[in-house]
Amino acid sequence: MEFREIYCYNCHKTLGKYNVKFYTETQIAEIIQTIHADHIKIGHHVEIRKKKSK
Ligand SMILES: [Zn+2]
Repeated sequence: MEFREIYCYNCHKTLGKYNVKFYTETQIAEIIQTIHADHIKIGHHVEIRKKKSK
């Protein structure tokens, strides 16, 4: 399965994992803006990473 991971470089942790079948990159960007907005507000570097797992 392929998924997109929301990762915060400042916190050194994964904020969420989302299956590419169910979430588009646009939807994930919206999730960052709403659920993880506190990281953005304090200037953290949050990135979407594409990953694969079995
Ligand atoms: Zn953070």
